[in-house]
Amino acid sequence: MGGSAIGWASAMLYFDHNATTPLGDAAREAWLHASTKHWQNPSSLYHDAGFAAQQLDAARERLADALGCEAERLVFTGSATEANNALFASLPAGSRVLISAIEHPSVRAAARHWCGAGNVFEAPVDEHGIVQIGGLIEQHRPALVSVMAANNESGVLQPIQAVQAQCRAAGVRFHTDATQWIGKLPCDVLGCCDYVVGSAHKFGGPKGVGFLLQRDADEPLHFLRGGPQEQGRRAGTENYPAIEAMVTALEHTATGNGALRDAFEQQLIDAMPGVRIISAGAPRLWNTSLVVMPRHVNLKWLTRLSRLGIAISTGSACSTGREGSSVVVRALGATEEELRRVLRFSSGADTSTADWARLLSALVQVDGELAQS
Ligand code: PLP
Repeated sequence: MGGSAIGWASAMLYFDHNATTPLGDAAREAWLHASTKHWQNPSSLYHDAGFAAQQLDAARERLADALGCEAERLVFTGSATEANNALFASLPAGSRVLISAIEHPSVRAAARHWCGAGNVFEAPVDEHGIVQIGGLIEQHRPALVSVMAANNESGVLQPIQAVQAQCRAAGVRFHTDATQWIGKLPCDVLGCCDYVVGSAHKFGGPKGVGFLLQRDADEPLHFLRGGPQEQGRRAGTENYPAIEAMVTALEHTATGNGALRDAFEQQLIDAMPGVRIISAGAPRLWNTSLVVMPRHVNLKWLTRLSRLGIAISTGSACSTGREGSSVVVRALGATEEELRRVLRFSSGADTSTADWARLLSALVQVDGELAQS
């Protein structure tokens, strides 16, 4: 799957896997096969279309196996953003929701839009970037609590099992946006959550396909209306080739080595005193490093690194191009000036020691160049 130097098309050293990943070989083959052999509309009634429908059901079963849940609870969507919106749009009118302060915009903005800003309450994070639910469920009496599984900027793993247990005890539903977790860590722990969201392009699958795991198979979704696809929960012809490629990509994910990231961070601290590693002491995804550089605005770092053939980001992909918009570093109480110095490096499973070393020496080089300019 997604290498650090992304294939034949580019020799760029790719440290932006949390934004998106290159299509994996097995996923590409699965997509081509499905598009060539089983391109018929799964809802049509002739034999070949029936075969496409069977393959679609089989893909749902395989995804359910990976997540440790019943296949009927899964609805295929066009993205994680769509899945998050579909969930909030389908809550009863006037529902109150409790979300963490570090949710992706596709949760935060969706919650505010569909539930009304006055019905959305936020749980803060501690100094490690870990969500603190405390007594907020009793205080706000939400219909739904939403805490992401792993943060897209810092990689910090959130205590979703503990929050799910707290929600269950309080009779409240629990949703986790697991977009950054899936493909990087074992996902059979997710099936016990009431609602789970994932997106193929974060783990070597194609763009434009994702899923929502619902609490109950017969729970209506009021978002995309039209035809009866997905048992009436999501109208629109199913993108079976993309779904097949997504499930295949998930079955082919490999785990990377967090020790390489840890060694890089230590070397960066040694090379550049004053650099701050965000949530260094917290459990994190093995691939993510979010740092506040000691000097220079992040867009200058990004541009210079890009010229050296290295792709990184300034925070989340959604905030790229805007200096200082890291939701996570802001939630940790950083100043506006510090926010403008945030960089995120996110590796892939086959990023090597040499790749991390090349990133480090490029950072040192750019630091020197920017000091001269
Ligand atoms: N949720 C999280 C945590 C993400 O990191 C992202 C993408 O960056 C999304 C949701 C949105 O995913 P998609 O591109 O599938 O809409």
